[in-house]
Amino acid sequence: MQTSAMYLDDTYLFNSEGIIIGGGIDDKGRYLLLTQTIFYPQGGGQPSDQGLLTIQSSQKNILIYFVRQVTGEIRHYYNEETEINWNNQLRCDLSIEPERRLLNARYHTAAHLLSNIIECCYAQVQAVKGHSFPSEAYVEFKNNTKEMIDLELIERKLDQAISSDLRTKVFEDKELIGSKGLRRIQIGKYIEIPCGGTHVGSTREIVSIELREIRSRGEVTKVSYVLVQ
Ligand SMILES: [Zn+2]
Repeated sequence: MQTSAMYLDDTYLFNSEGIIIGGGIDDKGRYLLLTQTIFYPQGGGQPSDQGLLTIQSSQKNILIYFVRQVTGEIRHYYNEETEINWNNQLRCDLSIEPERRLLNARYHTAAHLLSNIIECCYAQVQAVKGHSFPSEAYVEFKNNTKEMIDLELIERKLDQAISSDLRTKVFEDKELIGSKGLRRIQIGKYIEIPCGGTHVGSTREIVSIELREIRSRGEVTKVSYVLVQ
């Protein structure tokens, strides 16, 4: 049975429920599988959520410190000391850390906006990858484009886009389930980007992006950034 990924539908859903339907041990530790989850699994350049799973019958709290997807399973990793019977269909309350979720969603949405704006300003420049971990966030572009990109101009455009309160929209094509084109994200009128991450609802929530550095190495250019506040 596949876990329903509720984090795809609502970035701001911090509490919910689920039923334990399995578990196991792998190189990262012990994990649980659920019928549905609000925990974002690390991927797409975005860190996983952390939070608590509370077994309703016993009120036992289990700290979920890491979540990732392995061969289609969303694995919720917990402390090895905790004994849990995976086969009892235990009903649980789920809660994620809202600050961590929101910070990650802001950083990730900022990566989309930065890619959109740079691609818009320079037709020859193409974003290929985003890494939106706070404190080490960057967007990677194809080719050596360091001389081409004016960071001050881009920062001004970012400020404008943020204060314009542009909405993020999610498009899901149910007929394309399993294919890469399934879920696309669009900020304002910028080009849509295929993505399975969590995003804030409006650019205003990003607050402010400061560009740190632009560096070209070989055929790759990285623009690193931090969020102020
Ligand atoms: Zn995204």
